Amino acid sequence: MHPREHRLATSVLVVGTGGSGLRAAIELAEAGVAVLAVGKRPTADAHTALAAGGINAALATTDPADTWQQHAADTLQESYLLADPRTVQVVTQNAARGIHDLERYGMRFARQSDGKIAQRYFGAHTFRRTAFAGDYTGLELQRALIEHATRLSVPVLSTVYVTQLLVDDGAVFGAYGFDLVDGSRYLVHADAVILAAGGHTRIWRRTSSRRDENTGDSFRLAVEAGARLRDAELVQFHPSGLLEPENAAGTLVSEAARGEGGVLLNNLGERFMARYDPARMELSTRDRVALASYTEIKEGRGTPDGGVWLDLSHLPRETILTRLPRVYQTLLELQMRDITRDPIEVAPTAHYSMGGVWVRPEDHSTDVSGLYVIGEAASGLHGANRLGGNSLIELLVYGRLTGQAAAAYSAGLGAQRRSADAVARARTSIDTLLAADGTLNVRALQRRLRDLMTEHAGVVRDEAGLDAGLDGVASLEDQMTYIGVHPDIAGFQDLAHVFDLKSALLAARATLECAVERRETRGCHNRADYPDLDPNLQVNLVWCPGSGVTREALPPIPTDVAALMHDVSAEGKLVE
Ligand SMILES: Cc1cc2nc3c(=O)[nH]c(=O)nc-3n(C[C@H](O)[C@H](O)[C@H](O)COP(=O)(O)OP(=O)(O)OC[C@H]3O[C@@H](n4cnc5c(N)ncnc54)[C@H](O)[C@@H]3O)c2cc1C
Repeated sequence: MHPREHRLATSVLVVGTGGSGLRAAIELAEAGVAVLAVGKRPTADAHTALAAGGINAALATTDPADTWQQHAADTLQESYLLADPRTVQVVTQNAARGIHDLERYGMRFARQSDGKIAQRYFGAHTFRRTAFAGDYTGLELQRALIEHATRLSVPVLSTVYVTQLLVDDGAVFGAYGFDLVDGSRYLVHADAVILAAGGHTRIWRRTSSRRDENTGDSFRLAVEAGARLRDAELVQFHPSGLLEPENAAGTLVSEAARGEGGVLLNNLGERFMARYDPARMELSTRDRVALASYTEIKEGRGTPDGGVWLDLSHLPRETILTRLPRVYQTLLELQMRDITRDPIEVAPTAHYSMGGVWVRPEDHSTDVSGLYVIGEAASGLHGANRLGGNSLIELLVYGRLTGQAAAAYSAGLGAQRRSADAVARARTSIDTLLAADGTLNVRALQRRLRDLMTEHAGVVRDEAGLDAGLDGVASLEDQMTYIGVHPDIAGFQDLAHVFDLKSALLAARATLECAVERRETRGCHNRADYPDLDPNLQVNLVWCPGSGVTREALPPIPTDVAALMHDVSAEGKLVE
């Protein structure tokens, strides 16, 4: 008997209920446009809730000289000239509006004594322009968005896994998926779709990402619909992720731990930053510390489990408890480790996807009519390095703009599109997987892919390793034929893992193919065989499965913004 199929129709479907998806849904609901938001995990627990440090806008409350132009200049500088100046302008110019929207929804920002929103340094910013809510900015932001969406009665389904976008003749007309609890199917017809399903950092073994999130779903869903990817190779690695426990590998140890005086030691007890940045030592930039730790581990001076030591035990206990309470608590909870006495074993961890789906700067529309992509799923703002605090503001700015664009697109349609063939293909792809009774376990293949990406496309890459990575991906693609899928009384997670793996494989292939073509070292992308920056590669790399990688030129930076660009030290500033 065929499973039950829910058939729903709306004007705009939002896939993803993290910060970006909810912001877009709010825009639509406030405009009176019918909207439905779906996610594959509880809304309050979306990846966005992990964000800690803050959200940027040149409000000029703490530093009155700040301007959106300076914010734009800092963003472009930090991107190693790979950010799209038009996207940067849209975000920085609209950032203050994004913060005021959050205030309106009830977000509890930290405030100065005069009542204005407080702003602090966060990474390589010229001025203090990061608004925050303690160390829980993402959690508070997500709470405020959920509460406002609830006030507006935005319908949200948080157990629906979207497996395919429905497309006919180059235009999207909805999505297909299944319920993670009972396996029932969802056929959602919509005039437009906003894809807000996160990035692809979980395809590495260690990641700061939420478990089972950021598996590259956005990449696969968009590409299979006919969109392209941009700069998939540009992934930010954070220097300090936990090694254990295995199911939380990569969980962040805040960079504040180094800021407060924590020292990095290799397994020989050497304070190895002296070799890489003797002036700044542990206060060096994020990419340099990640590269230094990686090199120590690679050259055999790491711990037996492949990490280095972050030692805080020389600091007064009081300092740790008052200045680093979250780090102290996390280590107690995850490892029963008292960091006032024992060092922490850490290694670089995949933290943020700077590349993503190719979108237009003005409204984040794509190559597919009616399909918009936002948040970590999209590309254009960060280039080869992300300025701390810029991703949260991007969610707010483009959430509003894509909401408006999708509403206008829907209003302009003369008829609703349908395609029985596209729907049939979506049904069949789930049926086929459910019938798979091979012997290979999906979790084991996922693990192999994550090891492969860590080995061959981690902090440092080279041509031979990337080619080996591509061979490994091809082999895993073949092995997909021999998997078994076993939903049980506890739900359809096993089926979800197969789709996660399909997405992860596509994201891995795109990452590796682009990384091969970027034969230079720039920002987060370190090529051992091409250690210098190549001015000819000041281009974006655009990928699709058929034609592989092509180069895309960037527009010039406006002269008034270019004049403000300069190197900004991140020393002594929070950078997460
Ligand atoms: C530890 C940590 C700290 C950070 N700190 C900061 C910070 O201080 N400042 C800052 O600016 N940024 C920070 N970031 C980055 C920032 O949090 C993220 O980039 C941002 O929250 C991403 O939001 P999003 O809406 O794009 O995606 P997400 O929040 O990842 O939401 C994705 C949504 O898509 C859904 N989804 C995915 N696939 C499917 C599918 N197939 N079907 C249905 N639903 C699907 C998920 O369930 C989820 O609801 C931090 C990140 C981490 C990990």
